[in-house]
Amino acid sequence: MKLMITFSKKEGRKPIIAQAVKDTGVLINVERAFIDSSEGEALIDVPDDQCTLVRERMKALGASVRVLEHGITLDEDECVDCGACVSVCPREVFSMDAGGKLVVDEERCVICGKCIKACPHRALSLKFE
Ligand code: SF4
Ligand code: SF4
Repeated sequence: MKLMITFSKKEGRKPIIAQAVKDTGVLINVERAFIDSSEGEALIDVPDDQCTLVRERMKALGASVRVLEHGITLDEDECVDCGACVSVCPREVFSMDAGGKLVVDEERCVICGKCIKACPHRALSLKFE
C-alpha cells in the first residue's frame, strides 16, 4: 500500500522514515521524496498488513499521512483525448485506442505526477483515502 507522508520544516529535520522503520521493524520502500526549506513529502510503499502500524507511528512522529487508494485516476468527463499525457508518462500507462480514445493502464503507474502537470484539462489526479 502506498502512503504519502508530509512533514513540516520542524519535523523535516528529524529522520521520520528511518525512525519509523526502527520502531516498527517494517521495511519501507521510499519511491519518491522531496524536501525543501519549508516542508518535506515522501511517497512510501509498505506491506498492506502493516500499513496501519506504520501509519500510526508516522503520525505519532509528527507527520501527516495519507493513504493512496490507487494509481492515477482519469476523470472521463474532463478528458478530451488530446494525448498530452501519453508522451510524458515514463511507464506507458496511457495509450490511444483505434478510435482515438485514451486508455489507462493504472496498474503500471508509479505516481511520479508528470501527467497531472501535463494535462491541460486537469483530468488526471491522485485519490487519497
Ligand atoms: S503519475 Fe507518472 S507513472 Fe503515473 S500515469 Fe502519470 S506520468 Fe505515468
Ligand atoms: S492530457 Fe488530459 S485531456 Fe489530454 S488525453 Fe491525457 S487526460 Fe485526457
